[in-house]
Amino acid sequence: MTDLDIAKTVTLKPISEIAKKFGVDTEDIEMYGKYKAKLPLKYIDKENASKSHLILVSAISPTPAGEGKTTMSIGLSEGLNRLGKKTTVVLREPSLGPVFGIKGGATGGGYSQVLPMEDINLHFTGDFSAIEKAHNLLSAIIDNNIQSKTNSLQLDPRTISWKRVVDLNDRALRRVIVGLGGTTSGIPRETGFDITAASEIMAILCLAQNITDLKTRLGNIFIGYTFNKTPIYAKDLKAEGAMAALLKDAIKPNLVQTIEGNPAIIHGGPFANIAQGTNSVIATLMGMSHSEYTVTEAGFGFDLGAEKFFDIKCQSAGLTPKAVVLTTTIRALKYHGGAELNSLTTENLEALKKGLPNLEKHLENITKFKVPAIIAINKFSSDTNAEIDIIKEFATSKGVKIALADIWAKGGEGALNLAKQVIEVVKSNTSDFRPLYHWKSPVKDKIETIAKEIYGAEHVDYTKKAKANLRKIADLGLDALPVCIAKTQKSLSDNPKLLGRPKDFIITVREIEIASGAGFLIPITGDIMRMPGLPAHPASEHIDINDEGEITGLF
Ligand code: ADP
Ligand code: MG
Repeated sequence: MTDLDIAKTVTLKPISEIAKKFGVDTEDIEMYGKYKAKLPLKYIDKENASKSHLILVSAISPTPAGEGKTTMSIGLSEGLNRLGKKTTVVLREPSLGPVFGIKGGATGGGYSQVLPMEDINLHFTGDFSAIEKAHNLLSAIIDNNIQSKTNSLQLDPRTISWKRVVDLNDRALRRVIVGLGGTTSGIPRETGFDITAASEIMAILCLAQNITDLKTRLGNIFIGYTFNKTPIYAKDLKAEGAMAALLKDAIKPNLVQTIEGNPAIIHGGPFANIAQGTNSVIATLMGMSHSEYTVTEAGFGFDLGAEKFFDIKCQSAGLTPKAVVLTTTIRALKYHGGAELNSLTTENLEALKKGLPNLEKHLENITKFKVPAIIAINKFSSDTNAEIDIIKEFATSKGVKIALADIWAKGGEGALNLAKQVIEVVKSNTSDFRPLYHWKSPVKDKIETIAKEIYGAEHVDYTKKAKANLRKIADLGLDALPVCIAKTQKSLSDNPKLLGRPKDFIITVREIEIASGAGFLIPITGDIMRMPGLPAHPASEHIDINDEGEITGLF
């Protein structure tokens, strides 16, 4: 059965019932059909939130398919609920790029899913569209200002770094020329498109704590320079009010349900290889305000999403995580041990053992943040007992807790052992969370700390362009912002081919983008792109709808 087939066997509860279970009055929710609703921000209670146990689900370096963090987060929350702990899972919204591309959706899998998965994966409540509109409104205002004779800021079109966005994998839009068509159609200039999940507006929405904070951050977006080299921000174009107005509903977190009828909050969707990669602060705080346990996910491996979760999101919002669940799969470890992608379902003890150093490095990284770790083996039907035993022995030798989680096949039932271990770790209260670096340190120190401590690099190189970017950041007085490093998810290094636990490698910072609205700098390493492309046979070839309006072929 496919994920969609399994989802269709579930009789959904009305969302009002889920809201009641979560702790919100039915009259206060804003309904989006029968099974989706927006939660009003007044239900965030920071005092209550501070008592909730925040659990981060992360993973080892993934294979291209993903190792099951979303599935694990959902399954774990079902398991904790089964054990009588009121738990909410808080996740990101799927981007249409991966839905129609190669990776698939973001609603979990098997018997650990959030529902209705067709809706969540296709437009959902329109948050991405609102973010796209707010982003492109600023783009339109910029080009209009360049055209204007009476309202001109004298923006130098060659310095404008603000692009346009669309939530599709559309590589043909990476670089475009706008403003063609003569004097009434703008001033021609080169620009480009990023995917909406990579928009700074997405990052802003996910870090904002309220509408005032949202507007301040939108106003602080850096756009470019005037011909006199004066920096221009969105507030100079008086854009932040209208942009925030477009986001009036998008800022509210979305409530849906899990297969087992527990509340789930899904909000925001930045990518972790090019942005902070975790759901909104507002959604996390909303979940924490009404739950004893709050389970959340940060994208890709621990080196990307989790580092940013701790150093950017937790610091920015004052959150203290209690434990990390490190999703580990036998197939990814075999892949890191040199096995071919198409051979991962066959037993291969040699490759598995060779892949263990990748797991080892991620475990070492977790201890740098002083948060306790639990390894969760995401069980696949092809895993053999001999393979499982190898990982268990490894965990025992390292003194790390480990649980086999059969969440895909069994839902919450398959997560009971993991849930018990999470409760034990939280009870023993050993989390002494501390971020890896101080925001106030010099930019180069921040980058080097992450590259050396987390990635395991020997050294960081800067291109000429990156060095010029560093001077620009200093001129703009933005040195004290945290760094959100853009790097491939396929390797601990910036070279996707270096699997396992690479050593003695050099990280090359190609350029450093400024996201002064979101409040971070983006050192870009390797060849990472902010607009992905589709594969030769995109998933869209299998997606369809019949006369009854039923969707088929969504994974
Ligand atoms: P991540 O959040 O780490 O990217 P997901 O939870 O989205 O990963 O899972 C990626 C894909 O793998 C999904 O299509 C999911 O259905 C599938 N998957 C996850 N765990 C399992 C499992 N144990 N067995 C089979 N398929 C799985
Ligand atoms: Mg995920």
